[in-house]
Amino acid sequence: MLQVKNISFSYEKNFVLKNIDFSVNKGQNLSVIGESGSGKSTLLRLIYGEYDLNQGEILWNNTKILGPKFNLVIGYDFMKHVTQEFDLMPFTSVEENIGKHLSNFFPVEKKERVTELLEVVELALFSKIKVKNLSGGQKQRVALARALAKQPEIILLDEPFSHIDNFKKQSLRRNLFKYLKEKNITCIVATHDKDDVLGFADKMIVLGDSKIIANDIPEHLYKNPKTPLIASFFGEFNLIDDKIVYSNQLKVVEKSNLKAVVNHSYFKGYYYLIEANLNGEKVFFEHSKSIKKGVAVFLSIYL
Ligand code: ADP
Ligand code: MG
Repeated sequence: MLQVKNISFSYEKNFVLKNIDFSVNKGQNLSVIGESGSGKSTLLRLIYGEYDLNQGEILWNNTKILGPKFNLVIGYDFMKHVTQEFDLMPFTSVEENIGKHLSNFFPVEKKERVTELLEVVELALFSKIKVKNLSGGQKQRVALARALAKQPEIILLDEPFSHIDNFKKQSLRRNLFKYLKEKNITCIVATHDKDDVLGFADKMIVLGDSKIIANDIPEHLYKNPKTPLIASFFGEFNLIDDKIVYSNQLKVVEKSNLKAVVNHSYFKGYYYLIEANLNGEKVFFEHSKSIKKGVAVFLSIYL
């Protein structure tokens, strides 16, 4: 179990994180979300032991995570941190990069392991290619596979799919998170993408104002977003009578006391996102067809 006990941290004089307190069980998937600059990456670095804490402590089971002041070499064998800088060996092949830390005394096991991971990150066809010839997204996948090579007990992923295009993202996410669950590897994912969270995270924490502003399962936070910041993470929403109403919870009805005038229809695939004007405020709702600008509609809230 990872225990983050009431930690505070500042790079300079202002606190980036204040009184952060949470725990993650073995094998759980925790998402850390928050606006850019809210301290997601900093939190992962602290868990990894990259900096010394101003206050509090971090424990993995019974091991206290120590910062550079108390630890000569940063990091621990049981933990891997995949950052935005991939730090790969450019002039060697994908498979050599992935197997870099695996012992050559067990060539069969090494080969099996690398093959398994090449499948997880869908790079089997690229195994012999030199890393310098890969795209940013492919490099990110090599970095993920390499971090998993020695089966860490816990892995910290900082926006793990940020460089990966949409064609690959969906299946890669499923592969990776399924693999981590199968191997019972604890994982902490810093992200601003709801698709990294929904369907995968057991718990999520929301950072704001240097603090944890929410800590719950994704379903609860989705259904009951306490602040506009949390709602905005999940999708387009409206504030109607101080209530947070997602765009798909606002529907066109025959008659109601919410009369809006349509401004624009955005094609979204299986629906249109309609922007309209309701008593001088912009509102968004979803509709199966586009609606012409200037048309008046009645809306009703279905929570
Ligand atoms: P996020 O990952 O959520 O975007 P970061 O953890 O990168 O946020 O940054 C949190 C805050 O700490 C920001 O205000 C950022 O400018 C500051 N910060 C990040 N890294 C450093 C650093 N090495 N030195 C000083 N300030 C930093
Ligand atoms: Mg970051």
